Amino acid sequence: MTSTTVPTVSTAATAASIPAAETAAETAAETAIAPLLGRSVGSLTQWVTEHGQPAYRGKQLHQWIYQRGIRSLNEVTVFSKKWRTEVKDFPIGRSHLHYRSESPDGTVKYLLKLTDGHIIEAVGIPSDKRLTVCVSSQIGCPMGCDFCATGKGGFARNLETYEIVDQVLTVQEDFHRRVSNVVFMGMGEPLLNTDNVVAAVRSLNQDVGIGQRMITVSTVGIPGHIRRLAEQHLQVTLAVSLHASNQALRTQLIPSAEKYPLQDLIAECRDYVKLTGRRVSFEYIVLAELNDQPEHAIELASELRGFQSHVNLIPYNPIVEVDYKRPTRKRIEDFTQQLKDQGIAVSVRYSRGLEKDAACGQLRASKAAEAIG
Ligand code: SAH
Ligand code: SF4
Repeated sequence: MTSTTVPTVSTAATAASIPAAETAAETAAETAIAPLLGRSVGSLTQWVTEHGQPAYRGKQLHQWIYQRGIRSLNEVTVFSKKWRTEVKDFPIGRSHLHYRSESPDGTVKYLLKLTDGHIIEAVGIPSDKRLTVCVSSQIGCPMGCDFCATGKGGFARNLETYEIVDQVLTVQEDFHRRVSNVVFMGMGEPLLNTDNVVAAVRSLNQDVGIGQRMITVSTVGIPGHIRRLAEQHLQVTLAVSLHASNQALRTQLIPSAEKYPLQDLIAECRDYVKLTGRRVSFEYIVLAELNDQPEHAIELASELRGFQSHVNLIPYNPIVEVDYKRPTRKRIEDFTQQLKDQGIAVSVRYSRGLEKDAACGQLRASKAAEAIG
């Protein structure tokens, strides 16, 4: 692989500047022509008619974009050569494969290069019945969580709708198999990019054919935004990254939590359940000796009491920037039992994929280091 210049990203923003991310990040694609990927049949039909073609061409174009995975309008051989030449430079919006890495269990990590040169991560996770894609929603992340490689790497901008849909198509094409599930657990905080994430969910549902219930949006929580997502009345599953059983510990791990008391976050989650009828699951990275003691199980149970929810324990994947410790398997098992004893529905998610660079953002960080070093 040749080393390429990757645009730099700014260092992590402070908690105070976070609400500005959605507007500040709308730079790159705003001035450019909006590509065709991510558009509905209706919108493509309008586009072809505006470009002098009969309306039925819209449906054809939709198939070529979402099923055949064209990268240029010049590939659409059912269109006349003359028209293809006229529109061939109009962007579809596909990324380029920058790096691909397959682990022995079949998980594939991708670094994808966007049209402006930025690099993002996507992951394909196959099992007998499913092909799950873990997608990024931003380039980097401004939230600065202390345990997260993406959080340590700074933030550049939000991803556009087509850049999210592209990740799913890329994995689908590489596996020659239909994607069944999508999780927004790659780089970035989806609810700082709610409009594009919601548009991508709709496109993945209507254009790519993935059930909304098979899509999970993971958030660390942005005040008011869980309610905003609920008001979209989507059928997606919400995963909330809790990681701590009390406000003080949570703020230590997630700087932005300072402005968002744990009780307020959980109240918004209750509203999400009420408004959508969908369940909420809580993600909890287990950090040895920090949040994995019996008193944390008791505290967590009291916070979640009466809430129909599920807790996913994620053993911490060490990153080089900090010295948190990964818990032993025995400690995870004990903590799981302690939560069960408190009446909490709990499961453990061991990261699949590469031993090295398994956590979110780590692959991109290590490749960036290689390019520099
Ligand atoms: N920003 C959103 C979604 C992306 S982070 C969020 O925080 O929920 C995706 C997941 O990766 C989160 O559940 C996060 O907690 C987890 N993660 C990040 N760094 C990790 C690490 N070092 N070890 C294990 N999981 C990690
Ligand atoms: Fe951002 Fe999620 Fe990483 Fe926190 S854990 S820095 S919110 S990607």
